[in-house]
Amino acid sequence: MNTLQAARNQVLEQIEHACQQAGRKVEEVSLLAVSKTHPAELLAQMYATGQRSFGENYLQEALDKIEELSDLEIEWHFIGHVQRNKTKHLAEKFDWVHGVDRLIIAERLSNQRTADQAPLNICIQVNIDAQDSKDGCQPADVAELVAQISRLENLKLRGLMVIPAPGHAQAFSDASTLFKQVKSVHAHPEDWDTLSMGMSGDMQQAIEAGSTMVRVGTALFGARDYSG
Ligand SMILES: *Cc1c(COP(=O)(O)O)cnc(C)c1O
Repeated sequence: MNTLQAARNQVLEQIEHACQQAGRKVEEVSLLAVSKTHPAELLAQMYATGQRSFGENYLQEALDKIEELSDLEIEWHFIGHVQRNKTKHLAEKFDWVHGVDRLIIAERLSNQRTADQAPLNICIQVNIDAQDSKDGCQPADVAELVAQISRLENLKLRGLMVIPAPGHAQAFSDASTLFKQVKSVHAHPEDWDTLSMGMSGDMQQAIEAGSTMVRVGTALFGARDYSG
């Protein structure tokens, strides 16, 4: 068994263990492989172990990999900061966009998704623990955004995405509470099924609090090298 296969098996076991601890079914939690900074060749090797969904943060890097790996049936997730002038590429090339935090971004994605494509899956990013970052909407704004974005054509509003500060486990249960609360204002509540939270260092707590999708990079691929 190769290193990637072993790493993926170990992560899948951690997910299973966390589900058992929380009394949840293992099918409720999916694994997104976060592959930023890693070459397409490594993604292809991870794909060979059975992994199908990959998350990328940097648009140009992602577009190159999408092109290079177009023969593989990969589900591409954009998990980075969404810039208003870059929405066209996201709308055309990705299956999911996790970092939507303003109505204008969602409107642009909806307008730029072409009619022959499946709806683009969207998560609203929430700044759940009042971090000093400009990413993510405020928790108080989520209900209105859900009501508005869920009415847009060419999008499928799936849920929420959060990136709490390390060690801030309370943020996971806050996100979970919010996730359950706002379903009722969704125009298509049956689409509302995704709580994207938890990374290599905190997936156990995130799953115990209700995560349905963990975004895992380091535990699958090893440490990232940003020096190149
Ligand atoms: C890089 C990144 C991850 C993966 O983090 P690891 O600690 O390497 O698992 C998950 N989510 C987002 C939004 C990221 O930018």
